[in-house]
Amino acid sequence: MTATAALLPEPVLQLQGVGLTYPGPPSVTALHPGDLTVHQGDYLAVVGPSGAGKSTFLNIVGLLDTPSTGRHLLDGVDVATLSDARRTALRGTRIGFVFQAFHLLPHRTVLENVELSMLYQRIARRVRRERAAEVISRVGLAHRASALPTRLSGGERQRVAIARALAAEPSLLLCDEPTGNLDSTTTSSILDLFDGLHRDGMTIMVITHDEQVARRARRTVTIRDGHLTETEPERQL
Ligand code: ADP
Repeated sequence: MTATAALLPEPVLQLQGVGLTYPGPPSVTALHPGDLTVHQGDYLAVVGPSGAGKSTFLNIVGLLDTPSTGRHLLDGVDVATLSDARRTALRGTRIGFVFQAFHLLPHRTVLENVELSMLYQRIARRVRRERAAEVISRVGLAHRASALPTRLSGGERQRVAIARALAAEPSLLLCDEPTGNLDSTTTSSILDLFDGLHRDGMTIMVITHDEQVARRARRTVTIRDGHLTETEPERQL
């Protein structure tokens, strides 16, 4: 190993020959063995037609499903070696999920929604509250911290969901069709927020059907018939 390589941080995600075949019958190979390396600060879009294997891929990357073949490292940890409990803990601390449908608690305030996401981590209450206020402010909602989600617009709700995902200070922000329920102006403001988080060094992976969303990412991975391929990035001028 060269001195430079020794200084490089561990990739956030390494998939080596990772694939998944649902046993059936009949068995379905939803993801053919493929490789992908994601470094800290990467911003990727994962695209592909319906049925191509995007959810299967998301479930693997999000530690919600186990590949049937290959090696999967998250922050250098070989996920296959972990007990269910340690896997769940790793998922809770290293992956921040953002979904299309927000999944906020309707009878809890914005602040409580974000704070409650840290409940099962060993973080003191005071620190939880401070950190919640910080991420709410980061997504531009400090003035709505005491509002209920039902009083918020779709875009604001997604900002709360993003704040909640950021609260655990995850290694990877994993977003599944995050703008699927939003109009194009609101989508654009959420994409501006992702750009800002990317500039701050956050690692972001967005699974999307939407060209407008995919264009903003710095890397594009396409899944087609369960095959993963990366499109060469267009260099930013
Ligand atoms: P996408 O998210 O891109 O629409 P999926 O990952 O959901 O695609 O599905 C990929 C393929 O795997 C499809 O052919 C789908 O029918 C199949 N599939 C998904 N889940 C299962 C399962 N639990 N058992 C068997 N086949 C499945």
